[in-house]
Amino acid sequence: MDWPPIKKSPSSWRLQPNLIDYQQTCADFSWDKVRQELDGLPDGRGLNIAHEAVDRHAAGAGQSQVALRWLGKDGQVKDFTYGDLKAQSNRFANVLKTLGVGKGERVFSLSGRIPELYFAALGTLKNISVFCPLFSAFGPEPIAQRLERGDARVLVTTERLYRKKVSALRSSLPKLQYILLADIDQDQDASVLSLPRLLAAASAEFTIPPTDPEDMALLHFTSGTTGKPKGAVHVHNAVLTHYLTGKYVLDLHPGDIFWCTADCGWVTGTSYGIIAPLTHGVTNLVDEADFDAERWCRTLEEQQVNVWYTAPTAIRMMMRSGLKLREKFDLSRLRLVHSVGEPLNPEAVSWGQENLGLPIHDNWWQTETGGIMIANYAALEIRPGSMGRPLPGIEAAIVHRLAEGKIELEEQADCEGDLALRVGWPSMFRGYLHDDERYRNCFVGDWYITGDLAQRDADGYFWFIGRADDIIKTSGHMVGPFEVESVLMEHPAVAEVGVIGKPEPLIGELVKAFVALKPEFEASEELRLELLGFARKKLGSAVAPKEIAFIDNLPKTRSGKIMRRLLKARELGLPEGDISTLEQSQ
Ligand code: AMP
Repeated sequence: MDWPPIKKSPSSWRLQPNLIDYQQTCADFSWDKVRQELDGLPDGRGLNIAHEAVDRHAAGAGQSQVALRWLGKDGQVKDFTYGDLKAQSNRFANVLKTLGVGKGERVFSLSGRIPELYFAALGTLKNISVFCPLFSAFGPEPIAQRLERGDARVLVTTERLYRKKVSALRSSLPKLQYILLADIDQDQDASVLSLPRLLAAASAEFTIPPTDPEDMALLHFTSGTTGKPKGAVHVHNAVLTHYLTGKYVLDLHPGDIFWCTADCGWVTGTSYGIIAPLTHGVTNLVDEADFDAERWCRTLEEQQVNVWYTAPTAIRMMMRSGLKLREKFDLSRLRLVHSVGEPLNPEAVSWGQENLGLPIHDNWWQTETGGIMIANYAALEIRPGSMGRPLPGIEAAIVHRLAEGKIELEEQADCEGDLALRVGWPSMFRGYLHDDERYRNCFVGDWYITGDLAQRDADGYFWFIGRADDIIKTSGHMVGPFEVESVLMEHPAVAEVGVIGKPEPLIGELVKAFVALKPEFEASEELRLELLGFARKKLGSAVAPKEIAFIDNLPKTRSGKIMRRLLKARELGLPEGDISTLEQSQ
């Protein structure tokens, strides 16, 4: 079915949007002008994300404005004003300084959405150390790989997570010097310290050192199809994109209550769950609890959320819950709803119109881009199923890869190709940590090749087609098949594994593993369950396969590479495509 466009007119606006004339805004755009809307550090000492997010508001009328409203799982509500957030992040920066942790050194976090996580993120940025959040549902294996690859010096976590997932790894992580536990009062030993004690002892005054906009600020791990997870490096200058997308895409206005449901363990939870809303001086809502349709609707109502940023999986779960939203809840304060992370079905856009009274605005970006690159905007027509149009300041194109490392720009509308972005936007990743070659391979000339396939229509709207590689998107999270395969290979019964993303209506794709057993083992339900449990224990629920099937031989290329594409086609009963490289025996 072709979904009709959703037209917008001034009468449909609940508040005049920040971006009205798209063409003119694009034509007049310059990043220098965006920079002028930010403050910069006093006395021309550079640009620091935490200053733009917190201190510049705390210095003026924003001092007593609520910056962070935290909703605990148990019903507690804690408000932190911009003044409080300044003091707490200063304390954390002083803690780092006292521990001798300096510029460029990596401070990791592994926790649920607790207030200390936010103090740590902002305090780390103030100290010009590098903040690297991990998802708390990761198992020990993905955690160890990231801590090791990211040269973690400090880890902020909780006692339970430390004991369960990290303490046994310590001997293999010699660079990891300090563990700061957010929920203990006394230090456990010289390296496992009480964060509350340290914060209480630290001064609430801190002067941010001179910060070069190109200083490394954030490290976000993302999965590849081969090899280890990739650490995408971001710099302080990224705050220009965070601020601009907060203005034009999220359409934040003074006094707004904003809620981004993403966990800080993923890039959305940092760029939009911390930085972007704070740069606009609005109130940023954080819910510690996980998804629950009823709780989320109640939160939208009770907290009078104006702008909501969520994900397709959550929207589909809401759709499935059958809740009569508009009958049961007063959502009249809600002005805009945005979604990111995976394709947003047109059905979901129109469900929003019926059930929230608002269409859902899809937008597209990835860990490497640091911020939203393609979006639907408050004042502009939505074409359900489309990711929207490039952010002013961003040049997106459909390209075709040619031999000899060249590309050709697709001029025609509605042609499928690689989605590419012209390099040079402030939040573009500056490298994959310790992996220059992989970084260089992402670029052809002036273009960053995103790894996604898309097409552009005659009016410049982009439509997502799929990934150009085997990366799996499950509940909005990237999972690298190689990571899962490597862990299953550690089981004594396993000879070979191939892992694919199997389409699933609710979570997008589920991780499915095909396992070939060693000759001395026999397939059984018991062994299947054992393998599921084995993988879950090592990888954690966010990454582990949900399905395992036994297979005699995995389809492989003549050079011995598992053909995941073929496994997937066979699983889905689709044409097998080009199998000229398939090994004869298959
Ligand atoms: P991540 O780096 O984990 O944020 O994942 C980025 C990837 O998620 C993109 O390269 C896309 O494959 C996918 N993605 C993100 N947003 C969208 C969207 N709006 N529609 C379709 N796919 C999306």
